[in-house]
Amino acid sequence: MITVLSGGTGTPKLLQGLKEIVDSNDLTIIVNTLENDFFSGVYVSADIDTVLYTMSDMINDELWYGVKNDTFITHERLEEIGCPELLRIGDIDRATKIQKTQLMEKYGLLKACEIQAENMGIGAKIIPMSEENSDIKIITDIGELEFHDFLIKHQSQPDVLDVKFSEVKPSEGIIDAIENSEAVIIGPSNPITSISPILSLDGVREALKDTYVIAVSPIIGNDSVSGPASKFMNALGIDVSAIGVASLYADFLDTIVIDNEDDDKEVEVNQIVNKVILTNTIMNNLDAKKNLAQIIIDSIP
Ligand code: GDP
Repeated sequence: MITVLSGGTGTPKLLQGLKEIVDSNDLTIIVNTLENDFFSGVYVSADIDTVLYTMSDMINDELWYGVKNDTFITHERLEEIGCPELLRIGDIDRATKIQKTQLMEKYGLLKACEIQAENMGIGAKIIPMSEENSDIKIITDIGELEFHDFLIKHQSQPDVLDVKFSEVKPSEGIIDAIENSEAVIIGPSNPITSISPILSLDGVREALKDTYVIAVSPIIGNDSVSGPASKFMNALGIDVSAIGVASLYADFLDTIVIDNEDDDKEVEVNQIVNKVILTNTIMNNLDAKKNLAQIIIDSIP
């Protein structure tokens, strides 16, 4: 069994490669739920849905959000009748979200994800990091913002001063999954808003210390490949580089994969993490995704 810790863009790219070379039934994916909330009357768990769509080959992998070739009839009609949505939710995607909302009310989020994964023919186990809602606030130069207001309404533009989120309880099965895995992969996801919420769950860091853990840096050079990760790291006083990423995971990390471009940082990263692998980490096509996945699998002792 291999466990992957995931957000909703960088790690799903890696999952596309991983599922080509590893039996999906041998994968457990623990997914960030920090940003989950209700929008337009439905529960939106963006990262979970991205992982569900990635594993079932439905993902819109230009946006890493929603279903490819989806239509937006309901979204457009809502705007026409004076009920605009903050999130652009496609019609097929909305059906997933309506079903998840209903299943969640009946059985809770964990079971809802299990049922949806099964319906989509996904062999991997997909576990939301928590069944509780996180309260997240982005403290910026224009005031305290809700996560989606920062990301969508303000297009991640304001200067970030701090990021705060509440503690939540881990979903059942997370610690077991980590303890019973031959390896845990921390994909190249946002270290602050995707990975650290998972690491902050009770017992997770301790369990990771006893398991082989390999991480891929989402930072190349001094910037993130996409999204606001560098802004968040900067605000929290963390060096925006593979060195900063390594320092965040230092207490449990066995191996870190950094980009070829960061060969000048290898020595310093190596002072933090035992083993450093240099390779191409830009996953802009399936071959690149498979290659990176294979390098990770080959590193498992
Ligand atoms: P979110 O939930 O949409 O914020 O997505 P994630 O947290 O999963 O991923 C965002 C991170 O993925 C960003 O910090 C990017 O730098 C990183 N990322 C995206 N594509 C790539 C890639 O091809 N290679 C690497 N190394 N990182 C990537």
